[in-house]
Parts: sequence; C-alpha cells; structure tokens
Amino acid sequence: MTPTAPAERAARLRELLHRYNEEYYVRDAPTVSDAEYDTLMRELREIEDAHPDLRTPDSPTQRVGAAPSSTFATVRHGVPMLSLGNAFGADELRAWHARLLRQLDREPGAYTVELKIDGLAVSLRYRDGVFESGATRGDGAEGEDVSANLRTVRSIPLRLQAHVDGVLEVRGEVYMRRSDFDRLNEQRVRDDETPFANPRNSAAGSLRQIDPAMTAKRPLRFFAYGIGANEPPLRVASQSDLLAALDAYGFPVNKETRRFESIDDVVEFCNVWESKRAQLDYGTDGVVVKVDSLALQRELGSVGREPRWAVAFKYPPEEVTTKLRSIEVNVGRTGSVNPYAVLEPVQVGGVTVSMATLHNEDYIHAKDIRVGDIVTVRRAGEVIPEIVGPLVAAREGRQLPVYHLPTHCPVCGTPVQRAEGEAMAYCPNAVCPSQLVERLAHFASRGAMDIDGLGYQSARAVIDARFVRDVGDIYALTSDQLLSLPRMGEKSVSNLLASIERSKTRPFARVLYALGIRFVGFQNAQLVADATGGMDALESMSAQELEAVEQIGPVIAKSLVSFFAHPQNRAIVEKLRRAGVNLRGVARPQATTGPLSGKTFVLTGTLPALTREDATALIVGAGGKVSGSVSKKTDYVVAGEAAGSKLAKAESLGVKIIDEAGLRDLLK
Ligand code: NAD
Repeated sequence: MTPTAPAERAARLRELLHRYNEEYYVRDAPTVSDAEYDTLMRELREIEDAHPDLRTPDSPTQRVGAAPSSTFATVRHGVPMLSLGNAFGADELRAWHARLLRQLDREPGAYTVELKIDGLAVSLRYRDGVFESGATRGDGAEGEDVSANLRTVRSIPLRLQAHVDGVLEVRGEVYMRRSDFDRLNEQRVRDDETPFANPRNSAAGSLRQIDPAMTAKRPLRFFAYGIGANEPPLRVASQSDLLAALDAYGFPVNKETRRFESIDDVVEFCNVWESKRAQLDYGTDGVVVKVDSLALQRELGSVGREPRWAVAFKYPPEEVTTKLRSIEVNVGRTGSVNPYAVLEPVQVGGVTVSMATLHNEDYIHAKDIRVGDIVTVRRAGEVIPEIVGPLVAAREGRQLPVYHLPTHCPVCGTPVQRAEGEAMAYCPNAVCPSQLVERLAHFASRGAMDIDGLGYQSARAVIDARFVRDVGDIYALTSDQLLSLPRMGEKSVSNLLASIERSKTRPFARVLYALGIRFVGFQNAQLVADATGGMDALESMSAQELEAVEQIGPVIAKSLVSFFAHPQNRAIVEKLRRAGVNLRGVARPQATTGPLSGKTFVLTGTLPALTREDATALIVGAGGKVSGSVSKKTDYVVAGEAAGSKLAKAESLGVKIIDEAGLRDLLK
C-alpha cells in the first residue's frame, strides 16, 4: 500500500473538517466526537506546517467555527471573536510559556486561569448600560443575531448594575447544566423529538431557535469571561480586573477563576481540575490560561484565529463516541435483569471501555439508545462508564429498532417480572444459575469470605459442572472435582482448597454479609452480628426482636426474617455449620425488655461467684446496661471485694450500692 500523498490527504481532511464544522456549528448535530475532530485537525495542521504551500485560505485551520446560517440576520462583531490555541498536557503548556518568554523577553508577571466552559461563545452588546443585541461567534468575523433569544437567558443582565456609557461588548459562554440537559433530553424523547448529543449541542440548538419562546423554555445559563468592542474604553488594566468589573456589572463570572504568578502554579491548577471537574454540574473541557496584563496582551497580539496571549489547556476527552454493537443483559444476585451496552472498544478517561451500564429499560428509552447507534460514552474520574446519548444525526436515515428487554430470563428461561411502578425487572427464579454465579462471586469476594481463586470464571465452572448448587456446597468441593474442570491445574486446585479452608475462620459479620441477604450490606451485617452474637440466636429471632437492635429498621429486619424462613436458606446455613464455618460473633446480647430494662449498672471490685463478663451478660440479657463509670444516671453499683474509687463516688452521689446477691435478687 502506498501512503497517501500529503496533498491528497490534506484535501480529504479539509473536506471532512468542513463537513464536521457545518454539522457542529450550524446544525448542532455532530456525527463524530470532539476528540476525533481534534485529531483530524491536528493532522491537517501538521501537514500544513510541513508543506506550507498546501495551506489554502479557506482551510479549517485558518478559520473559526462556521459561517452564520441564513436563518438569522448576520451581525459583524466590533472586534473579531477568536478561537484559542490548544495545549494538550503540561509539556505543551510549558512550551507555550517558553514561546511567551521569547516574544516578551521577560516573565509576563501573572496569569488568570479560568475553567474552559463547554458551551458556545456569544457576544452581548450593551449601549449606555442597556442590552442592545447579541450574537453567536459564527466564523469569528460575523455571527448570527440571536438577540431575542439571548434576552430570555435569565443570567444575562438586560441592564448593567453600574452606569457604563457608550458601547460595551461582553463575551462569554452560554451553556447548559448536565442535570438540566438530562431532564431536557428525557422530555424530548417522550415528545418523540431527537435528543441532543451533549449539553453543548443542546445549548447551541436551544439558543438558535427561530421562536424565542422555545429558547425561553430551555434552561440556558451564561458565564462572562471577556469583552470585545468598548467605547469609551473601560478603565481596566488586567484580565482579573476585567472579571471583577464584569462581576460588578451583574454578570455571572465563574468562581473557580484564579490568578497565579508562576507557570508552575498554573500547571498545578490544571492538574487539580482534571479530576475535580467531574464533580461540576456543567461541562468543562479544559482550562483557559491568559496573560493577565492587558497591555501585554496587546503587545503579544494574535496569529490567524488564535491570540498568542491565551491558550486552552485541554483535558483528554472524558467523552468519546463509539458504536453500540449490542445490548446484553445479565442477571444480578437478587435476580434483577440488568441491561448493558456492548461497545466497540474505545479509550476514554484514560482506560479502554467496551461496556457501559444501561440501568434498565426505561433509561434506554429515555435516552432513545438503539443498537447500531453511534453513542457518546462518558467516563469521568473513577466513575463507571455511561452512555450520554446517541448521535441521532449519525443514523443517516437508517431505521434502528427500539430496544426491548427480553421477556424471559436469558439464563434459565423463566418469564421476567416487572412490578408496576418499578424500574427494574426481575427473574423470579431463586435457583437461576446466573443469580447463583453472582451470589457465589459475592460470597467469595474480598470484603466477604475472601476466597482467593474463586472469581466469576471458576464460579461459573463449578456451577456448570453441578458441583455447587448453593454457596454452602463450596465447602464440600473435593480436589478430584476441581481437577476435572477446564483450566484447573494441581497448583490452583490446592491453592483454592487452602483458601476455602482459611475462609472458615472469617468473623461472623463477614459470613452474614457474604450470604448476600437483601439490604444486609457489611455495616448492617456488623450491627446484627454484634447484637445477636451468632447464627444460633439470629436464625430464630423475630422481626420485632431484630428491630430492637439499634439502627436496624423494619426493612432489614423483615429481609432477615424472610431469608431464614426459607428452608433452602436454612439448608445453606446448616452446610456452613457442618463445614465448621465460624458462625459465632463476639457475644454482645442486647435485650431491651426484662426485669432490668432501662437500668444502668456499674461493676466494681471482685464478685464472689460471677466474672465481670458473666455479670455483664446477665444484666444485658435482662435488659439492663453496663457502664464503665459512675454518674448521677447510674442506678446501681454492684460492688465486690476490693472495690475502689467507683464505690466512693457512688457513695458521694447517693447511688444505690448492691452486692452479687442483691444483683441476683433483681434478676429474679
Ligand atoms: P475551542 O472550543 O477549542 O476554544 C475556544 C472557545 O472556548 C471560545 O470560543 C469560547 O467559546 C470557549 N471558552 C470557554 N471558556 C472560556 C474562557 N474562560 N475564556 C475564553 N474562551 C472560553 O475552540 P472552538 O473553535 O470554539 O471549537 C473547536 C472545538 O470544537 C474543537 O476542538 C472540537 O473539540 C469542537 N468541534 C467539534 C466538532 C465535531 O464535529 N465534533 C466540530 C467542530 C468543532
């Protein structure tokens, strides 16, 4: 294969980028991700840098955005609206800084750093402090007159809070919050309208409505970050002063903005926000770093469509597009039927993603996600990948069928049930093998029984071979059985068996948690284990008794009781008991009814027959409490041989003092 000649490749790239610009800026319906667009743009720039004769005046590298559409009147900006050069990573940011130093021959003194809001740039024109008109950026020289629509954006002041004579163009970003975007898209799908690809396109589409009444219904917001024409000139010397002035005039200015004197601090800010931005309710795709001094900005000027005095530090994309190959379902531990997306693998947020959760059928319908779609996948920070939505424009007229959850469990074939008003569908078959795999994997997991070597794969293998029908069977596995399984060598078998053996000594709370009882997560398991002291007591407790345990509510109590009411579950517990799994907690019985109910005791000295532990157990068992120190709230001090200061304190406070015989009397 001969490599494509640069001229040919450049022409192809120009053609593609023109098309993508039009889709993105004019139709608000991109068909490729920003990352893909940026990669192609980079490639074109590199070719043009290497072969300057290939740089045509109409090249997308030489122009901002796209020409205004004919829907709106065209406005000429008093001062052109530029784009920004990009820096991908700290090295490129430092390279920009090095260029600055060369041009200026000195440090620029200070930088303002602003989050780069992922919306669309607009210019608002004020005359004598009153909103006159507003326009989109368009191609930078001319934009679309969207004044009537901008008037409906509530965070844009129609009258400035200070008197500003003459003309002032304020520039900033119109954007939509993620939460508002989600709500809007859900509504659009309900109304049979095409959902937007992302909040940015949603904001752009909303601002470019023909009917301002439509725009008014959209949750658009605004952040101001700069000015264009200003006559008479505003008296500000720096970007940070300017932002302060805009704030005073009544514009929303992003409050995360900072001013730094050293480039190291700038880099640090960029690094910190890379993960922190996931917590924001609005999209940001980078940080804009600007030389603070306006005099220096003028000295530096701009080259082509980009100012030299500012740069956009861009984050690796958290959102990419890829193809949705299919929708599969798995059946969870509780029988929930969970749809998930199988994607063409893509890199996003630093990892390769090939699956994303789809939650439930309603979620899929709310976002109008269909198999075969190009979808936007988002992974922010440590968050599980999710599908933002489909690029409906990329369907190219193809009819993709609406997805429906399978009517039968894909694993055991039982009809799936979905209760009225519930989002989740369930496979009601308690012995569905798929649930069993999940339950086994949970039982063996780290925080539970921690059985090394019993992951999903081996769980599936022992279930398929019918060696295991419930988690209790794990303890009956033999080395012959395990050796007969595929991919199981001597060494892994003996490791697994040793690990199973070790798991028998896990604390009771973990055993309880490992059983995967609904609503009994580790915390609750610990509370129940502490309060009941072991399986023997727990198995026969009533919901009422369980509810008496502090922090255990009726839902958990009911879930526990119904678990132990099932003969199958009792059989599992019996298997664990026979295998010698630890079913005893540290006994801390906690009765709240009994002859000593509501009474507080303090033990001191040595009692003739009872140990401290025995005495405590008797008191607590009868509903009383044992405290370590004497106070006015103490009801009785039980004093034995060689009682010390506690006895003295009890005497001074007038607390009743009894001996072991006295305690026994009370217990009667
Ligand atoms: P840009 O988004 O890289 O940067 C310039 C813009 O940043 C400004 O116009 C302004 O709107 C915005 N901005 C946000 N906060 C700012 C702040 N504090 N100070 C100054 N500006 C701020 O450049 P661009 O020319 O607007 O857009 C190019 C980008 O758009 C591409 O990198 C690509 O990601 C995306 N794009 C995607 C497609 C597609 O098909 N997916 C097509 C065209 C463009």
